[in-house]
Amino acid sequence: MFELGCDVAVVGGGPAGLAAAVSARKQGAEKVLIIERDKTLGGILQQCIHPGFGLTYYKEDLTGPEYAGRFIDQVENLGIETLMDSMVLEIFPDGAILCSNSRLGINMIKAKSVVLAMGCRERTRGNIRIPGTRPAGVYTAGAAQRLINRQNNMVGRKVVILGSGDIGMIMARRLTLEGAEVVSVVEQMDFLTGLTRNRVQCLDDFGIPLMLSHTVTRITGNARVEGVYVATVDENKKPIIETEKFFECDTLLISVGLIPENELSRAVNIEMSPVTNGPIVNQYMQTSIPAIFASGNVVHVNDLVDNVSTESEIAGREAARYAMKTLPETIDLVECVSGNNIRYICPQKIALSGEEKEVVLYFRVNMPDANVLISLSCNGKELKRKKVVKVNPGEMEFIKIRTSDLSPGSLTIDVTEEDAQV
Ligand SMILES: Cc1cc2nc3c(=O)[nH]c(=O)nc-3n(C[C@H](O)[C@H](O)[C@H](O)COP(=O)(O)OP(=O)(O)OC[C@H]3O[C@@H](n4cnc5c(N)ncnc54)[C@H](O)[C@@H]3O)c2cc1C
Repeated sequence: MFELGCDVAVVGGGPAGLAAAVSARKQGAEKVLIIERDKTLGGILQQCIHPGFGLTYYKEDLTGPEYAGRFIDQVENLGIETLMDSMVLEIFPDGAILCSNSRLGINMIKAKSVVLAMGCRERTRGNIRIPGTRPAGVYTAGAAQRLINRQNNMVGRKVVILGSGDIGMIMARRLTLEGAEVVSVVEQMDFLTGLTRNRVQCLDDFGIPLMLSHTVTRITGNARVEGVYVATVDENKKPIIETEKFFECDTLLISVGLIPENELSRAVNIEMSPVTNGPIVNQYMQTSIPAIFASGNVVHVNDLVDNVSTESEIAGREAARYAMKTLPETIDLVECVSGNNIRYICPQKIALSGEEKEVVLYFRVNMPDANVLISLSCNGKELKRKKVVKVNPGEMEFIKIRTSDLSPGSLTIDVTEEDAQV
């Protein structure tokens, strides 16, 4: 078996892995290694040829490949090593990594610390169990995006899209630009699940209808999709069958959410969040296994790559400090607890180590609301509040706090209507 040693090993060469590797190297880790199963770096950004990346991180409007390219250049310039075409099979608590490479066979990599950056995968028709026949022409939105943008294969001519997440809306625009007719985007919630900017730029600007509180109840067609039935849903998201209508189409795109790729994390027994389906991390992006850090979509699904880069810089920097034995020991903990209208907070824990730090807490709400107060309390005492015009489950919010303002116990974030607080 081929063996390799390094200070920091990064699993995954998407935007999270690239930013973590660059940051670990800049922090002083001498040997940083990215292990990637694909033949090229960049992760999902390689197929995202639309603009909209980097608006906050670079204050520029870049395409996915352009954004990834900036980090790939740094990886090369900083002498970060890459092991491509290599699938990580197992990770051990001490930082050892077992992977298979088509040329070298099975390798064992001995790292002082590891950053998990495996991204996520799409939920499929099977995950949501849409009844009907099993014809060709049913794709996840990301698979269709890859076929069109990287392989130059058009997926269909008359399309229904299930799910109003960002990938579905971006594909509605892409298919329209390629000459297809997008009959409708169908969403079972009574609100948009993606970014408002994508609704405006990808649906409204192209006159593509959005049907809220509706779902696809059946797929018809034998060799190829011939159409789908769409029905209104009740308050429990159950289809009202009497409202079913037939929509003729040859393609159904499914864009109903992403699942963090955490088989490796579970196998090594990292403590996982049942809400995000990713590892529970502290503000250093350190998991419950001290040598293993994590960032990007493997931790929680991000709508903006800019946030992924910022969060991954922390993971890389702290993994380097762990490898160099300069990361302070945790003395006490603050647990982040979801309060009113909060789905999750990331990081889920704040380690108190005597080191004064500003911590950015990212969170998502359960339900959309307008004119709200976001308040942060520690052990029942309010420390911060801010007014926000609107909150939406599709758009991640954040609030900053200094560790010196916290005491051991719990921290809660609540989102309440402004009137309810006065
Ligand atoms: C279709 C789509 C459109 C998007 N549009 C936008 C947009 O317009 N603007 C924006 O800001 N953001 C957008 N995003 C979000 C952004 O692209 C993601 O947040 C970002 O790519 C997440 O980065 P990541 O590195 O965590 O995951 P990924 O990009 O998925 O990278 C994960 C990498 O890990 C590798 N990997 C996984 N498992 C293993 C293993 N076992 N061994 C080795 N390698 C492994 C994968 O091959 C992959 O390269 C979009 C996302 C998608 C899916």
